[in-house]
Amino acid sequence: MDCKICKKIINIAPSATLVLDKQAKDLIAKGEPVINLTAGELDFPAPLEIRKKVTKATIKGFNTYTPTGGLPELKKLICKKLKKDNKLSYKSDEVIVTNGAKQSLFNIFQVILGPGDEVIIPTPYWVSYVEQVKLGEGKAVLVPTDNNFDLNVDAVLKAINKKTKAIIINSPNNPTGKIYSEANLKKLAKGLKGKDVWVISDEIYEHLNYGIKPDSIARFYKQRTIIVNGFSKSHAITGWRVGYTVGNSHLIKSLEKLQSHSSGNVSNIMQIAAIEALKTGNKYPKKFIPELKKRRKYLIEKILKIPGATMAEPDGAFYVFFRIPGITDDSEKFCQNLLKYAKVAVVPGECFGKKGYIRLSYANSTPKIKEAISRIEKFIKNKP
Ligand code: PMP
Ligand code: GLU
Repeated sequence: MDCKICKKIINIAPSATLVLDKQAKDLIAKGEPVINLTAGELDFPAPLEIRKKVTKATIKGFNTYTPTGGLPELKKLICKKLKKDNKLSYKSDEVIVTNGAKQSLFNIFQVILGPGDEVIIPTPYWVSYVEQVKLGEGKAVLVPTDNNFDLNVDAVLKAINKKTKAIIINSPNNPTGKIYSEANLKKLAKGLKGKDVWVISDEIYEHLNYGIKPDSIARFYKQRTIIVNGFSKSHAITGWRVGYTVGNSHLIKSLEKLQSHSSGNVSNIMQIAAIEALKTGNKYPKKFIPELKKRRKYLIEKILKIPGATMAEPDGAFYVFFRIPGITDDSEKFCQNLLKYAKVAVVPGECFGKKGYIRLSYANSTPKIKEAISRIEKFIKNKP
């Protein structure tokens, strides 16, 4: 049937991570013994303290719209967090609360892009960037990172032309876990001086790091940086959908205008959750780190023992991104077969613009991860 769907939608792919996650969950629901290491979603429950506040606000009957841009108290607390964690000064009119970092990014592209405008995206990249740029009628310009998955600043600067509207920085990175070095962020900021280009800094994995602390490029390029962040990963509340965007007040006003005609405000109850998350400081992400650290160490050791396997050890987030030459070269096929024969669901590098690699999310329990690795080892030995 011809449903007269517009070209813009026909030409985009669905979120690969969400498609693969659903596929794995459907198989599990059918009773298949699948281990799901696809989506980046922590397996920890939402913190009890936060759940209690949410319940209390619901029972009290808190049911009204809030300002589109978010509750004043929440915006103030986000400014306080930026000061404390990032040494950055922002005012409430430079903040908008969104339905997750995903909506922050979507809205930014709608607001800053016109037909044919270019956005530089370092590869490997998170699945939604390219499709969101297309939805904004822009063009994604892919620029590979270096051998260690750090930013190739010279290549990024070289890719800038009159049509360039923005550069995306995602550190800690999904899928590589790489934290871009401070030296590279400074070098990029310096190279951008006098150029009319936004930097969109996706900092959603800020608190999930295992040694090096990530820096925000806003510290070196504040005027033209748009910070994107949220509570999904730091507080294990992916499904609650709270994120935020920070940038100059003129831009924020435009984002608010757009949001006022789409979702309006983020669920008022979930804004209460975000307020509580900020009031508890970084207590929760800190609580999650020791367990994630253990899983990360285990996986790095096990994967690097597979003959030929290589990876740049991840500094943050909860992914390992690796390749086994001769075995994972067609990563899509490898992942399909791994699911079919070994019942382990992972994401192929193609989804992140890096064929030959596999992304494995360790946001799953240690016993499940151990079982998955044992199945992967057997699968590689037996090569179907
Ligand atoms: N950016 C990156 C790099 C991500 O991995 C994700 C995945 N959830 C998002 C943004 C979106 O996060 P949220 O749940 O806040 O929409
Ligand atoms: N960002 C997560 C991932 O890469 C969640 C899925 C999504 O939002 O696309 O797996």
